[in-house]
Amino acid sequence: MDIRVPMANADIDEVDVERVAAVVASGRLSLGPALVDFENAFAEFLGRKHAVAVSSGTAGLHVGFLASGIGPGDFVITSPFSFIASANSVLHAGATPLFVDVEESDGNMDAKATEGLISKIQNGEKVLRRWDDAIDIEKVKALLPVHVWGEPIDVEAMAKVADDNSLPVIEDACEALGATYRGQLVGTFGRLAVFGFYPNKQMTTGEGGMIVTDDDELADVCRSLRNQGRDTTDEWLSYSRLGYNFRMDEMSAALGLSQLQKFDRLLDRRQRVADWYGERLGELSPITLFNAGPNTTRKSWFVYPVQLGGDLDRDDVIRELRDRGIPSRPYFPAIHLENYYARRFGYRPGDYPVAERLGATCVALPFSGVMTEEQVEVVVEALLEVLAQLVQ
Ligand SMILES: *Cc1c(COP(=O)(O)O)cnc(C)c1O
Repeated sequence: MDIRVPMANADIDEVDVERVAAVVASGRLSLGPALVDFENAFAEFLGRKHAVAVSSGTAGLHVGFLASGIGPGDFVITSPFSFIASANSVLHAGATPLFVDVEESDGNMDAKATEGLISKIQNGEKVLRRWDDAIDIEKVKALLPVHVWGEPIDVEAMAKVADDNSLPVIEDACEALGATYRGQLVGTFGRLAVFGFYPNKQMTTGEGGMIVTDDDELADVCRSLRNQGRDTTDEWLSYSRLGYNFRMDEMSAALGLSQLQKFDRLLDRRQRVADWYGERLGELSPITLFNAGPNTTRKSWFVYPVQLGGDLDRDDVIRELRDRGIPSRPYFPAIHLENYYARRFGYRPGDYPVAERLGATCVALPFSGVMTEEQVEVVVEALLEVLAQLVQ
């Protein structure tokens, strides 16, 4: 059957199109004024001193670790319940991710579990199956919590763990631009934070990402690393370190600035779609919704996940929805059980039970800011049919 409602859609209007077209017509396609304008506007939006645009969120995390001095032999504590880019980027930097389990209520990295893992390492307990030596706590260099699905982590609890153990926080805020925790924007808590602008994100540049920080030196090194290691202070080409080509081009930057200037409206439109789903699915057993938590003053809806209860098989639901022309996605399959991670580190089912349970029972429904109420209705009707068929 043909797809009746798309899984996701960028929220692009005529102004966006004109801004990008103007850049193309100008002939200045990289390292031009659009990049500077987008970075300045982004830094101002978040209230941070520096914003460094890069070619993707993954590249931003990679560069952020390197600039923080994290590399081979080091460890970063992060979540197994995330898009795989968060853990992959730790490996790209040459370091090793150490996972901790997540909270059942929102899928975010659990501060208590984080403290527990740190204690184990301090006590010399084995925390990685394929790692014979005890891990030196001095080699644990950062916490990388992920604000999944646009819901802020428990910032206060995580900040306490970070402070108690003198660890910097690097926020993977790629799914949560605009979300606020007790009135404060995510991406303003960590020493460094990274955003992503893939087309299904709350705002897009096509491909693209942004690193934000208040630290002058970190920002400088990030700028250098994204541009082949070129010194940012030099008039002429001089390369002090091994860098990459992780630059954002001018078309992407122009689109990013255009989207940022109406970002509040983009988020409101996503909230409206989430509300349409919520009104229809709120009381529906055996489905659990992921509404904003008690400290969340604004949720920045990224996807629309629901958790299936009872003995509903998530994959049956996905298949039955597909047969009715409705796409949906498992969200997220736990990272530690992905082939590469299981093979390299010896992870097994049962290692992070909450992440695995959420990973096995959650499904993301079609969602975007341009979805109409009629489209939500079509998805919900199909879902009701599937539930009626599968629930005994
Ligand atoms: C989208 C995303 C990223 C970055 O993805 P890119 O496609 O590289 O921009 C990183 N972490 C998480 C959790 C994400 O959802």
